[in-house]
Amino acid sequence: MNEETTKIPQATAKRLPLYYRFLKNLHASGKQRVSSAELSEAVKVDSATIRRDFSYFGALGKKGYGYNVNYLLTFFRKTLDQDELSKVALIGVGNLGTAFLNYNFLKNNNTKIEMAFDVDKGKVGQEICGVRIYDMEELEERLRDEDVTVAILTVPAGAAQTITDRIKQTNVKGIMNFSPARLNVPPSIRVHHIDLAVELQSLIYFLKNYPNGDTEISQENTNING
Ligand code: ATP
Repeated sequence: MNEETTKIPQATAKRLPLYYRFLKNLHASGKQRVSSAELSEAVKVDSATIRRDFSYFGALGKKGYGYNVNYLLTFFRKTLDQDELSKVALIGVGNLGTAFLNYNFLKNNNTKIEMAFDVDKGKVGQEICGVRIYDMEELEERLRDEDVTVAILTVPAGAAQTITDRIKQTNVKGIMNFSPARLNVPPSIRVHHIDLAVELQSLIYFLKNYPNGDTEISQENTNING
């Protein structure tokens, strides 16, 4: 995110990639404008929230016209730094890590996993979907040399903090932590923690406790609408 966006609330910022992906598809299909109702239906965020979010971007929809798709796309591209490719490294090529390497992030935005690391010597030297797996011994040096700014952690909980302490010595500014461990980081590093087991449990809890789908409560607890 660049300086212009620092005033955007975090909940709004989290929805940006979602809006961006949808608008890109609209643009590709030749649409020039979109109403908040159409957007709402497509991204499953209520239209009042969309209008409030978009007002932060200076995009004021006109009644009977909607939003200008090109304007929004230019804004999102700039805001999400889509013109600049963020270099990402993945650490821990187990089941989850392998799935991420096989998943083509580039299809959705300008994010690409450049390299992967593992302690398992049997995995070192292999390539998955064109991404090479390096030895953990080379971690700091490679991250620095390639100016990697984002790290995805898919290692066991017990290994996460030690690896994080090593990452601190590099230019990494953001960690996407898929391990259940809570990480201690300096203020210069942002951590997004995604514990899939907790997310699943939380969904099941809401299904049990709000079987009739109280959307206001259930949406409050999702990452996108939070
Ligand atoms: P997953 O949890 O992704 O489904 P898994 O069950 O196959 O994977 P885990 O034990 O969770 O395996 O380990 C994930 C990966 O992290 C493995 O490839 C393992 O070799 C690697 N790993 C374990 N410890 C470290 C470490 N200290 N540094 C880097 N990689 C590690």
